[in-house]
Amino acid sequence: MEDVRRSSSGRKPAEGAEEDGLGVDTEASSFSSIYAPGAFALILFGPPGSGKGTQAKLLVTELGFAHISTGDILRDHIAAEDAIGRQVMAMMKNGQLVPDELVNQMVEERIGRPDCENGFILDGFPRTLGQAENLGWLLAARGLGHLVVHLAVDYNKLVGRLTARRQCPQCGTLYNLLSKSPLVAGRCDIEGANLVIRPDDQEMVIRKRLEAYDAQTRPLIEYFRADGSLHEVEASDAPPQVIASQVRQLIEEYRGR
Ligand code: AMP
Repeated sequence: MEDVRRSSSGRKPAEGAEEDGLGVDTEASSFSSIYAPGAFALILFGPPGSGKGTQAKLLVTELGFAHISTGDILRDHIAAEDAIGRQVMAMMKNGQLVPDELVNQMVEERIGRPDCENGFILDGFPRTLGQAENLGWLLAARGLGHLVVHLAVDYNKLVGRLTARRQCPQCGTLYNLLSKSPLVAGRCDIEGANLVIRPDDQEMVIRKRLEAYDAQTRPLIEYFRADGSLHEVEASDAPPQVIASQVRQLIEEYRGR
C-alpha cells in the first residue's frame, strides 16, 4: 500500500530536513499558498458525542474559517452512492474507522479550497496516529500552525447524548432529545421532514465507535500534548455557548502568542 505519510507535494520530508515539534518538514516554500497571514487549523478533538460539530458550527462564521467534518464528507459520499460511498458504507455502519489513506486524501484536497483561506476547523480529523502525522506534514508544507482543543466528556454522558441524537434526512440539521429538541416532536424545524437516527448512532454502533476512539484516537492526546498544541476544555456539563467562549479564549491566546 502507498505510504500515506507524504506532504502535499507528494514527497516525504527529506532525511535530516528541519523539523518542528510535530516531527515534520517545515520547508513551506515549495507550496504556493492560498492562505491569509495568521491562518491556522483549529482541531476540535474528542470522542463521538463530545460536541465537536456543535462547537464548529458556533465558531465557524465568526472566525471566517471553513468547517471540515470528515464524517459529513463521508456521509455525503454515501448519500451520493458513489465509489467512495460504497467503499466506506459498511465500515461506517459498523462503527469502524475508514482507511487513513482515504481520509488523508480527502482532507488534503479540502484544505486547498478557497474557503480555507483564513483557516479551517477540523472536526473528526485526525483520528489515528497516521492521520495526525500526515496532517502535520500538510500543515507544515502550507506554513500553517495548529491549535488542538480537546473536548473532554464523561463516557456515560457520551452514550446518553449519542442515543438521543436525531437528524433531518433532508437538510442534515442535528437535534438532541436531551438538549436541542425540535419544535414539533420528531419533525425538522426547517424542512418538516421526519427525523431519523443516523445508522452510526444506533446503540451497538455507538459502543463500537467509542471503542475505536479509545484504541485509535485517544492516544493522540499524548501526541498533541508532546508538541505543546493540546488544550483541554471540560465539556461534560456546560452549555455549548459556555464551552464556545472557552474555546474563543484559547484562540485569542493562540493568536496573541
Ligand atoms: P463522525 O461523524 O465524525 O463521528 O464520523 C462518523 C464515522 O465516519 C466514523 O465512525 C468513521 O467510520 C468515519 N470517519 C469520520 N472521520 C474519520 C476519520 N478521520 N478517520 C477514519 N474514519 C472516519
